[in-house]
Amino acid sequence: MSVQELLAETNERIEAACKRAGRERSEVTLLAVSKTKPVSLLKEAYDAGQREFGENKVQEILEKAPLMPGDVKWHMIGHLQRNKVRQLIDKAVLIHSVDSFRLAEEINIQALKNHLVADILIEVNAAGEASKFGVAPEDALPLVQQASELKGLRVRGLMTVAPYVVSSEENRPVFRKIKQLAVDIERENIDNVFMDVLSMGMSGDFETAIEEGATIVRVGTGIFGERNKGPI
Ligand SMILES: *Cc1c(COP(=O)(O)O)cnc(C)c1O
Repeated sequence: MSVQELLAETNERIEAACKRAGRERSEVTLLAVSKTKPVSLLKEAYDAGQREFGENKVQEILEKAPLMPGDVKWHMIGHLQRNKVRQLIDKAVLIHSVDSFRLAEEINIQALKNHLVADILIEVNAAGEASKFGVAPEDALPLVQQASELKGLRVRGLMTVAPYVVSSEENRPVFRKIKQLAVDIERENIDNVFMDVLSMGMSGDFETAIEEGATIVRVGTGIFGERNKGPI
């Protein structure tokens, strides 16, 4: 299937999941995860109406952004090193992967230098997998509290990469737990903290994530096919 067909199918599945969950389609943003994919495929998605793209490397955003139309919104979804923040800061509309106060501080410094306020999500390692980035669920609130003091950024919510599972149903408790964590943090009514964004669900489980409250789903292979192993 073409990117256009896969994108249409993904959008239909999102709409159906919203309906099942009694949610408006407009509450859920589809992020096309284009890491390792050539710009030609991103353009196919763009021509089919897709505007939000997710990358996991700063370098790929820097390379691809000048080659894509100016109204594309880039999201940083991968592990972010502090020394890369300076180059990223005015390129990404949302940084999904903040998992330490040191990283939040660097984002704050670079945002203030650029006279902007950076929207960020706190990445939570929901299932405690050693191979995954993100803070433990119990460390999310303390990090949000610390980050809320930084005027150059705005905590918008949580992000999680759920375990790789055979059946998406297996991840339902994970999504439910992260949604509940977001609700609990929101109840704290912390200044400068919004908790209106929940980035969870990927190609294998985005419908379940939507049923459990995701506002951004990150879909890569479901739109672009299997990832290229070689250079972009
Ligand atoms: C690659 C990636 C995705 C997309 O994964 P697919 O299974 O291809 O949909 C989503 N989120 C993050 C953080 C990723 O690195």
